[in-house]
Amino acid sequence: MAKEMDWGSLGFEYTPAAYRFVATWRDGKWDEGQLTTDPTVHINECAGVLQYAQACFEGLKAYRTEDGRVVTFRPELNAERMIDSATRLEIPPVPKELFMKGLDELVKANLDMVPPYGSGATLYVRPYVFGSGEVIGVKPADEYTFRMICMPVGPYFKGGAKPVVVKISDFDRAAPKGTGGIKAALNYAMSLYAGTRAHEEGFAENIYLDPATRTKIEEAGGMNVVFITKDGTFVTPKSESILPSVTRRSLEVVAKDMLGMKVEHREVLLSEVPEFAECGLVGTAAVICPVGKINDHGKVIEFPTGMDEMGPGLQKLYDTLTGIQMGRIEGPEGWLHEIK
Ligand SMILES: *Cc1c(COP(=O)(O)O)cnc(C)c1O
Repeated sequence: MAKEMDWGSLGFEYTPAAYRFVATWRDGKWDEGQLTTDPTVHINECAGVLQYAQACFEGLKAYRTEDGRVVTFRPELNAERMIDSATRLEIPPVPKELFMKGLDELVKANLDMVPPYGSGATLYVRPYVFGSGEVIGVKPADEYTFRMICMPVGPYFKGGAKPVVVKISDFDRAAPKGTGGIKAALNYAMSLYAGTRAHEEGFAENIYLDPATRTKIEEAGGMNVVFITKDGTFVTPKSESILPSVTRRSLEVVAKDMLGMKVEHREVLLSEVPEFAECGLVGTAAVICPVGKINDHGKVIEFPTGMDEMGPGLQKLYDTLTGIQMGRIEGPEGWLHEIK
């Protein structure tokens, strides 16, 4: 199969690999899990996930490095975040050891699906956990399934990162003490309407504001927002209802410790955005997607970096982080988890 794959032309689509890892929580504990070739989930019609959306997920990638290793990037942070997400949804958390064991077994079993170094493609890993036991009264399910699947995905940008145009949304993605800070499937279900409307209007993404005052930048719904000031400070919005992106947290470390930039993780007002020199959306899928313009109800904020390419500050951050992920640049200790 691997020989026939045209890695460069892959998109971001479900392309099943031969194996997936599955574990079950029953009678108060997680079993040890195992690999299976069955892509179909068999659950009761009243499963908690189907009735009350009791589900959360993660997303990370496996990379082939220049020297031929297969690695994942800071997967412990994904394991920890999935524990936080599960806890908030009354799902028994998947222990870190089980998450890491599943990840190692899954990637090892599907090595032929890890794209070659230099192809721009990567192996996307999607862990998720959901209520598989039946409920009809509103309560947590009594059985849960943890599943980890993977698929090769193409480069996010084919032929270089092109800046996008985004809009300030009139919808909210999170409530102040709600579930914005966790990777709950339900956050995505209710973002689809706003996302589809934005796409119809020709925008790549929505940027959401804080729901309480609608004056502060939150995030893009699947990516955190970052800025660079005119004097080169890396600024990232802070709020309890922003999902703590692994990419964003890693970029803060790269900026401060490797590139000697000043880093500010703080509340960011929409009104100060026109002062910034660069803007980007960050997450595992794209690493950094440059933003050229933000449309705020017809008032357009244009970043001086324009619509042709990523600005110099973000480009340096992008090159360094992807260099670390691909094993070209030595990053902080423990950032690469070696699988093979
Ligand atoms: C997953 C996700 C991100 C990006 O997080 P990474 O860990 O960098 O992939 C950003 N925002 C939301 C809402 C997310 O669900």
